[in-house]
Amino acid sequence: MNGPGIELTLAPELRLFAPPSRRAERVPTGIDGASSIGHVVESAGVPLTEVGRLLVDGEEVPVSYVPRAGQSVEVLAVSRPQPITGAPLRFLLDVHLGTLARRLRLLGVDAAYENEDIGDPALATRSAAEHRVLLSRDRGLLRRRELFAGAYVYSDNPDEQLRDVLSRFAPTLAPWTRCTACNGSLRDADKDSVGDRLEHGTQRSYDVFAQCADCERVYWRGAHHARLERIVAEAVAEFGGVGTA
Ligand SMILES: [Zn+2]
Repeated sequence: MNGPGIELTLAPELRLFAPPSRRAERVPTGIDGASSIGHVVESAGVPLTEVGRLLVDGEEVPVSYVPRAGQSVEVLAVSRPQPITGAPLRFLLDVHLGTLARRLRLLGVDAAYENEDIGDPALATRSAAEHRVLLSRDRGLLRRRELFAGAYVYSDNPDEQLRDVLSRFAPTLAPWTRCTACNGSLRDADKDSVGDRLEHGTQRSYDVFAQCADCERVYWRGAHHARLERIVAEAVAEFGGVGTA
């Protein structure tokens, strides 16, 4: 059915971004004859960071394409794993994703994180300057044009967030190589070299294995280790590739 606008179909994964009345297939959508399809999709509530291929009457078009009345537009989600070109894969997480940042670091994934809310412009600028993929649940932030790249984090549950990011970007996993506190690299250490940094009880009870090259935090096999081992084991079992490029 042709009308004054287009018929817009969002991929199922993208429908949560649209208002409930616009989540069906072939939703009649007004156009002004001048705006790009990218603008139309953003106006429907979908961040372009989440959009993969755009099909107009079955043919792929760029986001700059200007749709015409009567066309049928299909919006697909990004493919997984999503390749990131132009820089090594590394991330920047917004202030709400601290747990996810620590889990990514636990797996050796470069995950910068701002402890304080430095504001959207500063986050976007850092993403651009350091070529980091910005992870956020804030759609407004993901719309900022300065971003090097961005990705919406679909869940508010840290376990699901981790699986989301690992399945989307397939980063190389190198567990126990990065400081969960500051994102610095860990180096091997032993009790003798770091003994003066430990409480006396800790020194007796635990097996020191690493120290952060940046903040000098010492890591040992302590009380929380079993829980962290489980997170690592599950991630490696599902997303594998420890130490492989
Ligand atoms: Zn550190």
